[in-house]
Amino acid sequence: MEIAKRLEPFGESIFATWSRVAIEHNAINLGQGFPDFDAPDFVKEAAIKAIRDGENQYSRSAGHPKLVHAIADTFELDVDPMNEVTVTCGSTETIAAVILGLVNPGDEVIIIEPFYDSYLACLSMAGANVKMVTLHVPEFKLDESELRRAFTDKTKMIIINSPHNPTGRVFNKEELTLIASLAIKHDAIVLSDEVYDKLVLTGSHIPIATLPQMKERTITLRSLGKVFSVTGWKIGWSVAPSHLTESIRNSHQFLTFCAATPLQVAAAEALRAPENYFKQYKIEYRERRDLLVKGLRDVGFNVHTPEGTYFVLADHTPFGFDDDVAFCHHLVEKCKIVGIPPSAFYSKSDDGKGLVRFAFCKGLETLNIAVERLMGLA
Ligand code: GLN
Repeated sequence: MEIAKRLEPFGESIFATWSRVAIEHNAINLGQGFPDFDAPDFVKEAAIKAIRDGENQYSRSAGHPKLVHAIADTFELDVDPMNEVTVTCGSTETIAAVILGLVNPGDEVIIIEPFYDSYLACLSMAGANVKMVTLHVPEFKLDESELRRAFTDKTKMIIINSPHNPTGRVFNKEELTLIASLAIKHDAIVLSDEVYDKLVLTGSHIPIATLPQMKERTITLRSLGKVFSVTGWKIGWSVAPSHLTESIRNSHQFLTFCAATPLQVAAAEALRAPENYFKQYKIEYRERRDLLVKGLRDVGFNVHTPEGTYFVLADHTPFGFDDDVAFCHHLVEKCKIVGIPPSAFYSKSDDGKGLVRFAFCKGLETLNIAVERLMGLA
């Protein structure tokens, strides 16, 4: 295989690999995070209507006016929809657009491991100098001295993610204030990946852009797929001050130009859903989380209950494996369950080797069957 040097270390995405393994083994896929239930009817109908209404050509590159207005109207801060919001093909594209639009070769960028895999791949494509900070097992708290050490005069950006994939941590006010103070001190940009903002199951979500002096240096990243169960629509967006938005738009126009027009129109309608939709959504996800966490503990895993997201990290070492990939192969062969081996989300420490990530964005029936099958491990 011939591949450019900048991508050599990465290989196939861990999500693609394990979704394929799930199909090959006819297993329950608790790996890649996508729901096994369908999107709500009102969201699907809105997309069908948009297609029928002729919303079928390219949209404005930075986002359909209807959608950028809906994003601004539902954001926690006052935002100028036409100058501070950029719609992309999913948040994975926003990550690429931000990094390629703002990071020069040699710039230092801090990321926190375990991390969503595309951060590191995009930073490599941009030639960034990556500084890694670890959220250590079992509680995955941010270590103040480690974070302080990572910041230098050359720090261009820090990428944070709360609610955090894959640990399920939701950063508290103290942690966010620390990040903010260091970003201000070192004049760094904060890329705040908040794609699970509607999935805070314990406590509350504080967007870092709402902290004093942070709006002007923060790029907030959000997504439609999680909250409306439409991960395949690939609609994401950034909210950022205009001087940062301009750079994001410059790269976005050459990556994809614009996201799918009818899906943007439907997204605008979805975002204006009544408050009750979001409340019910959380209630259902709490039930899914509690079922899986209890089941995992009953089987013998050590689990840190996730405060947010639809993922849970479980410590598999009670089953005698010292490697996450070996454990995941055993799991699919013995129980027909796919999980993600999280060492793919680590580069500084070996913490991932003792862990497995499960997604609980599945119907209760699926989760009950999964727990029953996991009993086969005991
Ligand atoms: N965010 C999803 C996850 O962590 C995967 C997204 C993707 O496959 N690109 O499972």
